[in-house]
Amino acid sequence: MFPALQNLRLLFPLLRYLDKTKTVSGGLSNPNKFYRIKLNNHRNIFCCIARNRKMGDERSYHNPYDDYDPERALEFVNPQESPHDIPKLKTGFKEKLIAAVDNLLGKLEPGITADGRDVSIYTGTTGFALLFFMLSKKRQDSSFLDRAARLIDGSLAKLRNRDVTFIIGDAGPLALGAVIHHLRGNHSMSSQLVERLKALSSEVVDLNSDLPDEALYGRVGYLYALLYLNQNLAPNTIEDSLIRQVIAAVLASGKALAKSERRKVPLMYVWHGSYYLGAAHGIVGILYTLLLAKDHLTDSELTEYIRPTLDFLLSTSYPGGNLPSSMGSGRDRLVHWCHGAPGAVHLYCLAYEVFGDQRYLDAAKKCGDVVWQRGLLRKGYGICHGVAGNAYTFLALHQTLNRSQAKGLGEAKDVLNLYRACRFAEWCTTFNQHQERTPDRPYSLFEGLAGTIYFMNDLQDPMEARFPAFAL
Ligand SMILES: [Zn+2]
Repeated sequence: MFPALQNLRLLFPLLRYLDKTKTVSGGLSNPNKFYRIKLNNHRNIFCCIARNRKMGDERSYHNPYDDYDPERALEFVNPQESPHDIPKLKTGFKEKLIAAVDNLLGKLEPGITADGRDVSIYTGTTGFALLFFMLSKKRQDSSFLDRAARLIDGSLAKLRNRDVTFIIGDAGPLALGAVIHHLRGNHSMSSQLVERLKALSSEVVDLNSDLPDEALYGRVGYLYALLYLNQNLAPNTIEDSLIRQVIAAVLASGKALAKSERRKVPLMYVWHGSYYLGAAHGIVGILYTLLLAKDHLTDSELTEYIRPTLDFLLSTSYPGGNLPSSMGSGRDRLVHWCHGAPGAVHLYCLAYEVFGDQRYLDAAKKCGDVVWQRGLLRKGYGICHGVAGNAYTFLALHQTLNRSQAKGLGEAKDVLNLYRACRFAEWCTTFNQHQERTPDRPYSLFEGLAGTIYFMNDLQDPMEARFPAFAL
């Protein structure tokens, strides 16, 4: 990235300066010194001199846990009476998770109203609302729904009329608000919010707008909001014709770029001048959301456009199974949900369930191995680029393997991936002890503590866990 900075002799004066100015972040037990130069909100350049390579690499800690074996898994999972039984978490471990969630919820409290201006799901108040909404469902506790309602009303009062997506933009507060108000019996308010969400579509379906197609800021981030409503409100809340228009725009945009650049792949997407591949900004997030909308796709869209693009994506993987952050990226560095294998696994698992092609499942399993080895990130415990988000890799595999086994594919239910998810949750119980920088929004859903809590609560019902604001 900065070739000159790769020369350590040039680095030392800068490092000494940073040391003096206390821009170093890191725990006392940290064997590495870690230096950060912040460039913008989402991308930071890290320079790190690893003094003890045995502790992992510059981005992840060494995974201290032994990998799965059936005996070891019994610490977390009940013995199965038959290999066809879906494995269940041990009561004792579940109780540990509940206690950890309650403890972390106490720590979250001071952060919830810290910055009311940001209403996004990614780092703002709607992210907290989504957490409390999930807790209300999983714990059957209406006080969490009341909390979610207060937060969502605060968000709705401060919409920015800028971005149209579920994670970053107004679609998140509008869609979640419609669901929460419906559950609380405020049906007219709920309908109004649905209409306001639908009114955002004109920019989305307009191919001449500057809107990208990726998940965080683009068309599929809006498409997700429509699908979310149909799943959480009522199946036909959003009519097929609108969903079709959005899908058509996403496909037309991808086809046009692929054609103009004479690509062999039928769909190509760009964001801020880079051909990103991952879940947040790239092809993974676009194809994954399109496959979530599979019932609205034609056979030819699936076979002539989406599947060849998936196959192209497979061809870009690094030999170890990780996915480059963008086309042409030669350095295998990032193992995040936003960039790399932890995002790609969701697509490959779903693609396997849609197309039944073993290559997609093999690619997903390789993603699982990458995350097991390199997923305990030094960046911390969040879900966008942290340990909790990476742990969803194992839950995606666990669910796909178990669903496939129920259809007669595979000989036994999956325990390996559940064991790995439990180990990552165990790591999350050490919240803040293994983290070499404080996220910009340390309490938020995507960068901070709220996301860690979300995962640790979700894990208690492994077959029903869903990566928030991305999976359905
Ligand atoms: Zn990220």
